[in-house]
Amino acid sequence: MRLDIISIFPEYFSPLDVSLIGKARERGTLDVRIHQLRDWAHDVHKTVDDTPYGGGPGMVMKPEVWGAAVDAVVGSADQVPRMVVPTPSGRPFTQELAQELAREPWLLFCCGRYEGIDSRVMAEYSTRLRVDEVSIGDYVLAGGEVAVLVMAEAVGRLLPGVLGNACSVADDSFAPGSMRNLLEGPVFTKPPEWRGHKVPEVLLSGHHGKIARWRRDEALRRTVANRPDLAAALDPETLDKHDRAL
Ligand code: SAM
Repeated sequence: MRLDIISIFPEYFSPLDVSLIGKARERGTLDVRIHQLRDWAHDVHKTVDDTPYGGGPGMVMKPEVWGAAVDAVVGSADQVPRMVVPTPSGRPFTQELAQELAREPWLLFCCGRYEGIDSRVMAEYSTRLRVDEVSIGDYVLAGGEVAVLVMAEAVGRLLPGVLGNACSVADDSFAPGSMRNLLEGPVFTKPPEWRGHKVPEVLLSGHHGKIARWRRDEALRRTVANRPDLAAALDPETLDKHDRAL
């Protein structure tokens, strides 16, 4: 997958050199290209923002600079990227959207700062590319860089060969299939007892059926306790008698 990122703070993206994503880049599974937006600003101060029409506080990122940057990155290739613009007013970033983005050959992330990017930029590219304005949560960050790091990691770990054990994706919280809309339950490793806390007996039993049942029960309990919104949205058709009793 090719992943382009345009930002006024390219230095934010050094974490993409380490761990799973760093290794995926080394192997060539992920081709990350980071661009400095100011390279497309032509005044002496390399200005990328201006005051908002209609008044109000803060500054808005200029459409001409963004237009020149996106045109240069997209180029005249036959293939076009899917453009992702982080913003608190966007659609929520979910595991489902991460899976959808992981199927794209090319993503272009545009990092806003200040009050965001002039809306005409998204309108302009919507005529040529698939443009998604995406929020990583109901809070406001100072800029889109951290949101892009979150999305790049969530998408990157889904690419074939990036995780050591592909099965771990299937067991994750929010994974499709039987765990859809469920949080993963608690996990344990050796030793069997630590500071008086014992690993649940069933996990030491070697009985796969009982372990699967216990994991599902714990996932349901945790979902009800921490995410009643997800629990309420569970499809009753997917619940068995045991689930309903919890
Ligand atoms: N005035 C904007 C609003 O209230 O919607 C907030 C602008 S914020 C200070 C600056 C930039 O941070 C945004 O353009 C976006 O790129 C990024 N950002 C902030 N919060 C975000 C979130 N929850 N999800 C994704 N991006 C976010």
